[in-house]
Amino acid sequence: MPAEKSVAIVGAGPAGLMAAEVIRAAGFAVTVYDAKPSACRKLLLAGTSGLNITHSESFDTFVQRYYEKSLWLQGALTAFDADALRNWCLGLGISTFVGSSGRVFTEEMKAAPLARNWLKRLKASGVVFQMRHRLVGMQANRLQFESPDGPIEVAADGVLLALGGASWPKLGSDGAWQGWLSQQGVEVSPLMSANCGFGCYWSEHLLRHAGEPLKNVVFKVMGADGQVQEKRGECVITQNGLEGSLVYAHSKALREQLLQKGAATLAVDLLPDLNLEQLSHKLANRKAKESFSKYLKRTLGLDALKLALVYECSAHPQSLSADLLAQALKALPMRFDRINPIDEAISSAGGVCEQSLDKQLMLKVLPGVFCAGEMLDWEAPTGGYLLTACFATGRIAGQGVCRYLGS
Ligand SMILES: Cc1cc2nc3c(=O)[nH]c(=O)nc-3n(C[C@H](O)[C@H](O)[C@H](O)COP(=O)(O)OP(=O)(O)OC[C@H]3O[C@@H](n4cnc5c(N)ncnc54)[C@H](O)[C@@H]3O)c2cc1C
Repeated sequence: MPAEKSVAIVGAGPAGLMAAEVIRAAGFAVTVYDAKPSACRKLLLAGTSGLNITHSESFDTFVQRYYEKSLWLQGALTAFDADALRNWCLGLGISTFVGSSGRVFTEEMKAAPLARNWLKRLKASGVVFQMRHRLVGMQANRLQFESPDGPIEVAADGVLLALGGASWPKLGSDGAWQGWLSQQGVEVSPLMSANCGFGCYWSEHLLRHAGEPLKNVVFKVMGADGQVQEKRGECVITQNGLEGSLVYAHSKALREQLLQKGAATLAVDLLPDLNLEQLSHKLANRKAKESFSKYLKRTLGLDALKLALVYECSAHPQSLSADLLAQALKALPMRFDRINPIDEAISSAGGVCEQSLDKQLMLKVLPGVFCAGEMLDWEAPTGGYLLTACFATGRIAGQGVCRYLGS
C-alpha cells in the first residue's frame, strides 16, 4: 500500500468526500480540510426540503440536463450514474425511492443520516479531518491555510480542490478561490446565479399578492439556441419578482437573455389545460353589464392572483375581443431586469473551465492539483442533477489523483 504518499483534499462537501473515499481506498494517506467547523453543510441544507439525490429518467435524457457541458460530463456520469449512486447510498444504509416526478429521494428525506453514516465510514477507514482550516492560497502543491493556530502551510503529494460554487456562502463555499486560481493561469468562468429567482417591479396592486403561489402555469422562454422552452409548474410572487421551481427551471435561458440584452422575458400561459380554441369559445360568452373581472372568473375560474396578472402584464385587456384575449391569456409577457443575488441561488454557474483541465480533472497549469464538484464550469437544473455530478466528478478526480500518484 502506498501509504507514504499524502493527499490533501480541500472541501468537505459531496465532491471532496467522494474523492476522499476513492483515494483512501487506494491506500493513500488522506486529509480533508474545510473552512467550516463541520462537514457537508450545503448537503445538509439541501436535505431540509427532501434530499433529491438523483433522477430516474433514462441516461440519454439525464445527461442532456447539463446543457452544452453534457459531453464533458458524460464520462464521469456514465461511470457513476443514478443507479450507481442509489447503490452507493444503500451501501451506507440509506434507501432511496423514486417520486412521482421521477426524482429520486432518500427514504428519510433528510441528508443527516447519509452524512452521518458517510463521515463515520470515512473516519473509520482512516481519512483525517481538519476543520476550521480555510485555504487562502497555494503554490503548486503547497497550501496556505488560516487555522485556529494561525497561518499554516501544508505540502502534499497530491491536492484535490472541491471548494463548491458561490451560492449560500455562509455554508462555506464563497467562490474566493476564483481569484487565486485565476492568478495562477487557470481559466475560470465567473460564478453566476443558477437555479435562482429574477427581479422586476410589480405595481402596488400586484404587490398585494406577494408571497402567493402562482400554480399550474406554463412558462415559455426563448433559449440562446433560438428554441422556445416550455415548462409547466408553479412559482411564487415575491416583493420584487419571482422565485420557485418553475422560474429556476428556466434560469439559464433567462440569465443568458439578461446578459445579452439587459432584460429577460418569458410568456406565461395562465390556462395550460385549455387550448386556444376552447379558451376563445368560453370567452365568447360575455354578458353586457358584467365587470371584466367577474367575466374572467365566471367563464374561466381565474383566481385573484391570475386576474391581477392579466391586468399587470397586458395593455387594456378589457377591450380585447374573445379571440385576442384568449391569445393574451396563453402568452402573457413578463419582463425581468435583474437576476437575484448568487448568495440566494440554489447553485452557481461558471467555474474552472473544461479547457483548463485534463480528462481526469487535473489542472493543466498545476500538475498534481485536481478539481471536482460545483466549482467546475457546468450547471444543471434542480432534480438531483447537481449532487449526481458532484459525486461523479469527485470520483473521477479521486481516481485521477490515484493514477497521478502511481496507484
Ligand atoms: C438550498 C439548497 C438546496 C439544494 N438542494 C439540492 C437537491 O435537492 N439536490 C441536488 O442535487 N442539489 C441540491 N443543492 C445543490 C448541492 O447541495 C450542491 O450542488 C453540492 O452541495 C455541491 O457540492 P460540492 O462538494 O461541489 O460543494 P459544497 O457542498 O459547497 O462543499 C464545498 C466545501 O468547500 C469548503 N470550502 C470552500 N472554500 C474553502 C476554502 N477556501 N478553504 C476551505 N474550505 C473551503 C466549504 O466550506 C464546503 O464545505 C441544493 C443547494 C442549496 C443551496
